[in-house]
Amino acid sequence: MNEKQLLIIEDEKPIAEILSYGFKKEGFSVRCAYTGAGGLSSAMEIHPDLVLLDWMLPDLSGVDVCRILTERFNIPIIMLTARSSMEDKLYGLETGADDYITKPFDLREVIARAKTILRRYEKAGTQPGNDSPDLIRSGHLVISRAEWTVEKDGIRIDLTPREFELLLFLAGNPRQVFTRAQLLDRIWGYDFEGDTRTVDIHIQRLRKKLDLTNSLITVFGVGYKYEPQKEN
Ligand code: CA
Repeated sequence: MNEKQLLIIEDEKPIAEILSYGFKKEGFSVRCAYTGAGGLSSAMEIHPDLVLLDWMLPDLSGVDVCRILTERFNIPIIMLTARSSMEDKLYGLETGADDYITKPFDLREVIARAKTILRRYEKAGTQPGNDSPDLIRSGHLVISRAEWTVEKDGIRIDLTPREFELLLFLAGNPRQVFTRAQLLDRIWGYDFEGDTRTVDIHIQRLRKKLDLTNSLITVFGVGYKYEPQKEN
């Protein structure tokens, strides 16, 4: 197995050191940055496989760093935060973070979640023979799993990794109804601690970004389905 490259962006050095120690022991190659700007330039340089990102940094906010990273790279991001309210959780997820870990954390749990996310990315990104086709053409949309891109009428639309996975899954299984809980398990993973509103928020954002009100259908009392549209 290739050595995974981890980038830790965390201004509290003792925390960065604990994380670095734990992940190195698991065979990761680790780079630490202690500011948001330093983290961004490290990301450009090393193209990490995974980022652990602190919410409160001295220069930029972790949320801004997260947004910039997800715009430029398709890499999973786990946010570390001392805040724990659900609103903050959802806000973090909307910026494109894949997971959320509240301080103080259990190092083993951070490592376990990191591995889960990496496995999911590998599965979604590269391996053939998954349950969605590599290229989905549906109405005005072209969804490419190989390139992780979505085009609407030939124009590329930026989605967060989660939005993309959700769209790919629903459009890859057209007309099938999935409950919010099924979608949470499928896209976010069993160990995700958020609630089903997370799914609703992502559906709403997909509808808005891609003008999919007629395709991403709410099945009242059950969940959601994707209804393919004919091009007109
Ligand atoms: Ca901090």
